[in-house]
Amino acid sequence: MKATLNEYFSRKIDENKFLITTRCGTFILLNENEYRALNNGQYKNNEKLQRQLIESKILMTEKNTKDIINRLKMQYIQDKSFIFMNCIINLTHRCNLNCLYCHANSANLEDKQMDMDYATIDAYIDFVLNLPYKNITIEFQGGEPLLCFDKIKYILKEFNKKKKKYNKNLISSTIVTNLTLMREYIANYIIENKISLSSSLDGPKELHNSQRAYINGSGSYDKIIYWYNYFFERNKIVGIMPTITSNSIKLGPKPIIDQYVKLKRNAIFLRAMNELGRGKKNKYLSPQKKEFTEFLKEAFDYCVYLFDKKNFLIVERNIFSLLRNITLPVKQYMCMRRPCGAGVNQISITPNGDIYPCDTARSIQSLKIGNIKTTNFREIIINTIELRTLTQEFQPLCDTCAYNCFCGNCPVVTYAKYNCFIEKTPLDFNCYVNKYILDYIFKKRDDKKYKKYFKAILKLEI
Ligand code: SF4
Ligand code: SF4
Repeated sequence: MKATLNEYFSRKIDENKFLITTRCGTFILLNENEYRALNNGQYKNNEKLQRQLIESKILMTEKNTKDIINRLKMQYIQDKSFIFMNCIINLTHRCNLNCLYCHANSANLEDKQMDMDYATIDAYIDFVLNLPYKNITIEFQGGEPLLCFDKIKYILKEFNKKKKKYNKNLISSTIVTNLTLMREYIANYIIENKISLSSSLDGPKELHNSQRAYINGSGSYDKIIYWYNYFFERNKIVGIMPTITSNSIKLGPKPIIDQYVKLKRNAIFLRAMNELGRGKKNKYLSPQKKEFTEFLKEAFDYCVYLFDKKNFLIVERNIFSLLRNITLPVKQYMCMRRPCGAGVNQISITPNGDIYPCDTARSIQSLKIGNIKTTNFREIIINTIELRTLTQEFQPLCDTCAYNCFCGNCPVVTYAKYNCFIEKTPLDFNCYVNKYILDYIFKKRDDKKYKKYFKAILKLEI
């Protein structure tokens, strides 16, 4: 059979275990002898190996070439697609909490100058209605958006009134809130209008309160648990997420995961604190990459233990996203794509109307891509190109990495850490973490217990 070698990348995963990948996301694990045979051409004398290499598309034949092209096509459509736009609106910089790592660096509660005015809100509505996207999501962030609840209502009312004329489909609207200003009349409005809620819970009470306190220093834990349960009893799940700091590392992942299990969550996103906004001032809280990956490993093993011994299924989102990227051709999570969704699937508007390609980017002035009152969409795309060319897709070290087809890396987090966009692979925090998780998956995937767990989590819709 006539077969040609596809472009392939390799990585030693373990003793006698080599991972071979292709650009179209197929892979095979070989032992050392097979790996040598692949490299020196001896595979041609080994029928079994040749067949496996064809199946995994390391070898291209007339028959499998079409499939390779289709996979590449799907990747291209997905990664460069303009399927939807998440239009984040920061109605205020003010907040009633003083979280130690706030990436928005929230402003004083009294400083009403920090709120978006109605002229800017109208410009936002107009801007969103005129975007060349049919599918829109609106996300209210801040500061604390519930300080501006009337403005949230106004935006949704106006948008819903006009969306038909502009042929827009509002897929979802979300309020990202610390929940402490929730009131029953607001909760009723949220439930009636099917608005999603997203909040933060760092773990057990003591840890949470030490990081997410009111301006007077008292903790916010009790309020969050109260409102989480309030919505839960009314069949509404509030999305919650912890931020992992060096305090969380000291505590270890088990009490944090247990807290989520107690709240009946089947997903937890152990996201390391970013050195942005107030997180830059409190850099000392930022976890180091080695301790963070050890923390993640303990967390993954604990989730597998809970599934195996306690029959409780909970998944960590970093491993979930990468496992999905390995297994399925479509990459759902926009931050684990090449390039990521910044500027094409997400924009973030500050209270004065400035546009940033992503919410994480909004405390970095140099990443501003326009203002809703003066910049049109074409200019936004042009201004975003620079950020997009700095993503992993164009990094020479990523380009030759065995994980390039599964990985995604945040250019803004890299910038925040090193004050420069060019990745310091393998020094880069995200790169180190992603490699660690991907190695973990490939090391464990043939172990019966882990295999069963991986299969179960892939069925989750989270
Ligand atoms: S970020 Fe690191 S792990 Fe990911 S593709 Fe680049 S070099 Fe590989
Ligand atoms: S810039 Fe970072 S946080 Fe923003 S969409 Fe890209 S990967 Fe995600």
